Amino acid sequence: MAALPVPVPVPSRELVLAVDIGGTKTAAALVDRDGVLLRAETAPTRAAEGPAAVISTVEGLARRLLAASAAQLAGVGIGTAGVVDASSGTIVSATDTFADWPGTPVAGLVREALGELLVPDAPVVVQNDVDAHAEGEHRHGAAAGAASVLVVAIGTGVGAGLIVDGAAVRGAHHVAGEIGHLPTPGAEHLRCPCGRAGHLEAIGSGIGMHAHFRSLGGDPLVADARGVSAAAADGDPTAQRAIRESAAAVGRALAGAATILDPERIVITGGVPKIGDAWWTPMRRAFAADAIDALQSTPILPGTLGDDAPLRGAAASAWRAI
Ligand SMILES: [Zn+2]
Repeated sequence: MAALPVPVPVPSRELVLAVDIGGTKTAAALVDRDGVLLRAETAPTRAAEGPAAVISTVEGLARRLLAASAAQLAGVGIGTAGVVDASSGTIVSATDTFADWPGTPVAGLVREALGELLVPDAPVVVQNDVDAHAEGEHRHGAAAGAASVLVVAIGTGVGAGLIVDGAAVRGAHHVAGEIGHLPTPGAEHLRCPCGRAGHLEAIGSGIGMHAHFRSLGGDPLVADARGVSAAAADGDPTAQRAIRESAAAVGRALAGAATILDPERIVITGGVPKIGDAWWTPMRRAFAADAIDALQSTPILPGTLGDDAPLRGAAASAWRAI
């Protein structure tokens, strides 16, 4: 006879569920009070199938993670794509990747779906995924110990999270700190996903860098930012220029954001900065050219938590609510 799995004896109120809902996949983990990810699972989000499918993905992950344990969850922290009203745990707006996501009361639906897996008074905290990412870097990563930090994620798009006096700043319309839509010199010829021309995301994101490369007459066979990076490494001067100017736009926007916010640190994460010195050097040079003297010493640091940051931040927000 096959041995049955032995339940892991974790006392109630010692575990939270952290969830990171992305456009293609959802990651979930059980996290202890010290912020350690004890066990993690991922599943396809099924964003195109609508809110019920996404909530069912979260429920499925929670049940899988708890299957071998007798524990209940003391709380749930969720970071999700889209603009989120964190006070109610409801989606305000989202891209078309998520069918019918705007208006979804994620916190309430997850509470209902998890039912008996939660201790009776367990909080369910929902925030934007980049805000969760920022909280992770602030609690455990490159911004640990800083009173204020602007965390900017530069990948397919440009997202940001802002923490001041140790707390996330959401803003009156839930988009505080979103420098992706800051008007940025050098991006005037490119259209942003929000529909306007000249925003940082239009040139500074991976998609923007590739669009800029094409606008400079770059090789049409180069399909994306990864291709631009490879072409630059092979000596293609147009690719090198596209990276330089895309990175400089980020530095310029950071100088503008720093002027308003004066954060103790700026932390940069995501796939694009992984291009390396060819990206970081022109980004830093542009920041130094535009930032006033008092801001020149602002540390601009790479994130240290990688893909774990949103889960660790989501968990931290749940523990804080308990
Ligand atoms: Zn925009």
